[in-house]
Amino acid sequence: MDLILASQSTTRRRILNVARINARFMSPLIDEENIKKALIADQALPRDIADTLAEHKALKVSRKNLKSWVIGCDQILVFMGEIFGKPSTPEALKDILSRLSGKTHRLVTANVIYKDGKPHWRHVSISHMSMRSITAIEIDDYVEAHWPVVKHSAGGYHFERTPDLFSSVRGNWFDIMGLSIDPIIRFLNQNQTGRPFQTPRLAAVLGHPIAQSKSPLMHGHWLQKNHISGDYIAIDIPPMRFNTTVRTLFDVGFSGFNVTIPHKEQALAFADDMSSRAHRIGAANTLIKMDSGKISADNTDGYGFMTNLALQSNTWQPSAGPSLVLGAGGAARAVLVALLDAGAPKIYLCNRTQARAENLATDISDRVEVIDWQNKVNVLPEVVTVVNSTSLGMTGKPALQFDLTNVNPNALVTDLIYAPLETQLLKDARARGCEVVSGIGMLLHQGVPGFEAWFGSRPVVDEELEALVLT
Ligand code: NAP
Repeated sequence: MDLILASQSTTRRRILNVARINARFMSPLIDEENIKKALIADQALPRDIADTLAEHKALKVSRKNLKSWVIGCDQILVFMGEIFGKPSTPEALKDILSRLSGKTHRLVTANVIYKDGKPHWRHVSISHMSMRSITAIEIDDYVEAHWPVVKHSAGGYHFERTPDLFSSVRGNWFDIMGLSIDPIIRFLNQNQTGRPFQTPRLAAVLGHPIAQSKSPLMHGHWLQKNHISGDYIAIDIPPMRFNTTVRTLFDVGFSGFNVTIPHKEQALAFADDMSSRAHRIGAANTLIKMDSGKISADNTDGYGFMTNLALQSNTWQPSAGPSLVLGAGGAARAVLVALLDAGAPKIYLCNRTQARAENLATDISDRVEVIDWQNKVNVLPEVVTVVNSTSLGMTGKPALQFDLTNVNPNALVTDLIYAPLETQLLKDARARGCEVVSGIGMLLHQGVPGFEAWFGSRPVVDEELEALVLT
């Protein structure tokens, strides 16, 4: 089937790509503003205006590509009976946001499909977008951060980048993005032979900040490799807005999320149910919408840590002797639970801020013994596992000063850090004959359970993925 999307929007192109629908893209040059003005003067309804504009675009492209199916699209924002355009200046953007603040507006999305210059299918959806109350200072900050990127969007926002602007949304993610992919897929499946297209499933990683996350690269690779119709994006959510925004994202159709700093504790509290490992760790890195509609929380960091070590070493037995864990942050919690579950008889826990280590030990198990940060070298001869779960030694952070002279050469030494891939700790341990494992495998393996739950296929961790994530 030769399909053309008559739209300049990169978001709509991405939707077809993630739905694994091959299409060509063409810009439909029509006099949109004048057509719209004439329709408004004729008192046309908003849905008819959007539908007519989508038709004009599809017709223009269809006339020059008679044998192709052509999708035309339009989207308009309606507030109190008025149609809002795209902001032409930062001042216009401020004006739009101050009027939409605290109120509900509608996004009308029209899609049509033409062939041989004639309409074959049409669809209009209406999404109800309730914007939270935004102060004048917040509006100024928003304009400074987002102008001019949002100047081509009705309403001056990109829902996918700032969903926290909304207190609630009644609608579907793809309708809001401007392409109603589910009904389009139904039409295409009825009119083509071959493998049926599937509605894309959605997942994301949520954090603050989030731009540095490797997760979209990793999950994007798995979606591609497994030919799955789906998308995985990164969304920055400020901590104060976590609960409302996650609820909104589930409401518009997300299957689940990875959650990273600083939201892991909030994610656990948000969920209706939790796995026992998430409960024991006291934090979640994965949220899954179950068939029942309930939200389940899991923590896969310990799973990733343990799977990585088990696959990298043939000889390591965590039950063969005590472990030493440096650090008492979120990652250390997951490591302690994983090591205890794997049979570690005793764990020495050691952190710069000793009180934090003591609280953690009290929370987790009496098999965890806190030792002074200065005394960590003393236990080196007896431990069979050494784990660095501090951020020391990471590129851009201070070095981890740790003299391994007395380390047991049969111990396995691992660092959760993967930038650099081989930290000074691992270099020193290797020089003393220890088996060493870098943190990259933990990162890759912790993503597996979430991907399987959201997209229905268990992904493979291999060298190709590792190389991709490390570039
Ligand atoms: P976190 O909660 O912020 O904890 C940071 C830890 O590092 C704390 O124990 C902290 O000690 C210690 N620390 C920081 N600066 C220090 C310094 N100058 N001297 C001594 N100790 C210092 O972070 P996290 O989530 O646990 O992550 C810890 C590390 O693990 C990070 O490097 C992270 O990238 C890595 N990680 C890797 C993976 C993976 O998949 N490979 C997964 C999770 C985390 P205080 O308590 O004294 O501040």
